[in-house]
Amino acid sequence: MGSAPRAVIDLAALRHNLERVCSVAPNSRILAVVKANAYGHGLLRIVKALGIAVDALAVARVGEGILLRQAGISCPVVVLEGCADQQELNLAAANQFELVVHNLEQVKLLQRYKINNPVACWLKIDTGMHRLGLTVDSALTAYQALNACSSVSGRPHLMTHFANADHLADAATLTQWQLFQTIASKLDSEVSCANSGAILGWPETHADWVRPGIMLYGVSPFMNGRPEAYDLRPVMSLQSQLIAINHYKKGDAIGYSGTWVCPEDMAIGVASIGYGDGYPRHAASGTPVLLNGQRVPLVGRVSMDMITLDLRGCPDARVGDPVVLWGAGLPVEEIAEAANTITYQLLCGVTARVGFVEEQGADGQAESG
Ligand SMILES: *Cc1c(COP(=O)(O)O)cnc(C)c1O
Repeated sequence: MGSAPRAVIDLAALRHNLERVCSVAPNSRILAVVKANAYGHGLLRIVKALGIAVDALAVARVGEGILLRQAGISCPVVVLEGCADQQELNLAAANQFELVVHNLEQVKLLQRYKINNPVACWLKIDTGMHRLGLTVDSALTAYQALNACSSVSGRPHLMTHFANADHLADAATLTQWQLFQTIASKLDSEVSCANSGAILGWPETHADWVRPGIMLYGVSPFMNGRPEAYDLRPVMSLQSQLIAINHYKKGDAIGYSGTWVCPEDMAIGVASIGYGDGYPRHAASGTPVLLNGQRVPLVGRVSMDMITLDLRGCPDARVGDPVVLWGAGLPVEEIAEAANTITYQLLCGVTARVGFVEEQGADGQAESG
C-alpha cells in the first residue's frame, strides 16, 4: 500500500447511520444530503451504498446533480440553491431535478421560461437563518405564483433551515420552527425543516421530510459532541504511516518556524500527511494522532506533506507503523476542536491526492475505489 495517505470509507458504518436516521425519525421520508462530494466521502460511492433506502438526494448545485444522472442514478434529486438562470433551468428540467426556490428572481425565472417537462419546487422560507429564503410575509404570494406556474409540477413543498441546531440548549430552533408553522399550517404542502442537529435534538421538527447530512457520515452535529453519544459510527478514517524517526537534543526546534522545542533529548516521528492532503494546518501542538492505536501528540507546524509527532510515549515505534489522523478511535470532532474548525470542513477538505478505499465493514474487506 506504500506510505501515501488514504481515506478508508466504511460503507457498513454509513448504512448503520442511515438506520439511525430511520429509527429516530420513523415517520419522515429521507432527503439524504450528499453535497460537496458527499461531504468529501465520494459522491457516487456514498449514493450507491445508500441505495433505495433514501427517498431523495440533496445537492447544492445543478452540476452536482448532473454527476448523479450521468452515473445512471434516477432517484429524485433536490438542488438546494436552485437555478440562477435559464441555462441552469433547462438543465434542471432535462434532468428532472427538484428545485429549491429561495427568492423572487427564481420565481420569475420559472414564470418567464416555459419548460416542457415541469419541475417540482421547494419554496424556502427564511425563519431566522438569514442566508437564503423568502420572508414569511412574502412566502404566501410566492407560493401562489409557483402553484399557478406551468413550469412547476404539483404543489410546491415548503422548507426552512435552522441556524442553531448544533446547539442543544439554544431556543432559536424552536422559535424558527414556530415561525415556520405560522405559514406551513395554512398550506396543504409537504414540509421539511430538520438537518442532523434537529433530527437528533428536536423531534417535533421532523415533519414530512428530514434532511440528514453530517450524521450519515457518523459525525455528531452538536458542538463538543461525540458520535457514540448518538450511536453513530464514523464513516471516514484518514490514515497514513510513519516515514521517519529521528532523535534530537533538548532545545532543538522542530519544523517550520521552530514553534516547538524539544524539552529533553527525544525521538520525533514524521508521518506522511499534511495540509496538502487536507489535514488542517492549524492543528495545534498537542493534537492527538493514533500511532499503532495509541494516542501521541502532534508537535510543531503542520507542513504540506508531513507532520511531526512526539514519540516519547512510544519507544517501540518503527518506520512504517500505521497512523490514523481521524476515524474510529479518534473522532474527527476532536481534531476539529484542536484545529479551531468544524468537522464539516475537515471532511470536505480531504484532497484529490489522497487515495480512497472502500470497506464493507464486518468482513473487513477493502477494495480500492
Ligand atoms: C447542508 C444542509 C443540510 C444538512 O445539514 P447537516 O448539518 O449536515 O445535517 C440540510 N439542509 C440544508 C438546506 C443544507 O444546506
